[in-house]
Amino acid sequence: MRQDYVKNLKDPDFGKRIDKGVMMSIEKGPYYAIPQWPSVHHTMGGITITDKTEVQDIYGKVIPGFFAAGEVTGGVHGTNRLGSNAVADCVANGYIAGQMAAKGTLPDFIKGKN
Ligand SMILES: Cc1cc2nc3c(=O)[nH]c(=O)nc-3n(C[C@H](O)[C@H](O)[C@H](O)COP(=O)(O)OP(=O)(O)OC[C@H]3O[C@@H](n4cnc5c(N)ncnc54)[C@H](O)[C@@H]3O)c2cc1C
Repeated sequence: MRQDYVKNLKDPDFGKRIDKGVMMSIEKGPYYAIPQWPSVHHTMGGITITDKTEVQDIYGKVIPGFFAAGEVTGGVHGTNRLGSNAVADCVANGYIAGQMAAKGTLPDFIKGKN
């Protein structure tokens, strides 16, 4: 954005709103630049699983011996994810999936397990 646009609080190119004091014009160097690129923060969709982390097919039928947890899964957080819950999801469900795959049982920390 051009500095005079910021100063005049008007963007004649795209009509972008410029609030006073929010966007500031930077008039003196030195300037530094860093490369940035888009990245996936969290995906809400993905493989559906049961509460034992068993992967389900499109009809909801469990695929035997197939477990999933974390970012690759969808539906665990409903329609929206509260910030910071993804890591807890990955760790808890990853633990469950690991034990389910290795032993076919739920970990002791699950109430009413197996
Ligand atoms: C910028 C950013 C900030 C975030 N901040 C938070 C936060 O504050 N709190 C929070 O809870 N969550 C946060 N998240 C989300 C959280 O980090 C992820 O949901 C979580 O790390 C996903 O873990 P995961 O193990 O399921 O998947 P990943 O971390 O994506 O792990 C998948 C692994 O599989 C490997 N892999 C891929 N393909 C193959 C293959 N074919 N063979 C072998 N290995 C393979 C990849 O290299 C990777 O190591 C953030 C995410 C981003 C991007």
